[in-house]
Amino acid sequence: MSLLSEIIRLVVSILVAWLITRLPLVVLPRISIRPLELIDHPNDPEIDETLILQILRVRRAYWASIPFGLIPLILGILMIIQSPTSVGFGLIIGSSWVILSRLIPFDLDYLSHFPYSMNLVHELNRIRIEKYPCCEIPKPVWSLDAVKCSECSHVLLNHPRPDLGRKRSDGILLGALRIMILDGHGFTEPNSDRFPEEE
Ligand SMILES: [Zn+2]
Repeated sequence: MSLLSEIIRLVVSILVAWLITRLPLVVLPRISIRPLELIDHPNDPEIDETLILQILRVRRAYWASIPFGLIPLILGILMIIQSPTSVGFGLIIGSSWVILSRLIPFDLDYLSHFPYSMNLVHELNRIRIEKYPCCEIPKPVWSLDAVKCSECSHVLLNHPRPDLGRKRSDGILLGALRIMILDGHGFTEPNSDRFPEEE
């Protein structure tokens, strides 16, 4: 067997394992039997109870990657025990890559350790309960780059919006690809220098 075909098998099996471990985040929040009433993507959702419940659902799907990832990992180990194959190595590399990316914090900032951290959920709940008195009737919404009041654009939480498990407006394939590559993280960076008073 040629070296090239071995390399192709290795790359394909890494991709397959990577795909299996990242699929739960794309599929699970979107196949719910009782979907929550959220505003359609890409409109900015209001910070309310429904949104917080939805984030908790997406959070569960995010962590489901670990049990899903164990399937190609165990399969790869079993294959290697039988005989050292490139497919077995590929499955182990691909799945352990995603599992490690779940276990190692993404950022030092306490809100961004993971895209759906409990700290973030608590912070959103605080914004929901203690309405910031920026205008007469404040209406906090989560826009792409931060949680803002939709009436006066006052920034309430400088945190980009992660994928919220809604049906994507950019199509099933492109949307799924984006979620898998970004792994649930927001599309933009927080504007830490634009809003120093928020720190
Ligand atoms: Zn306001």
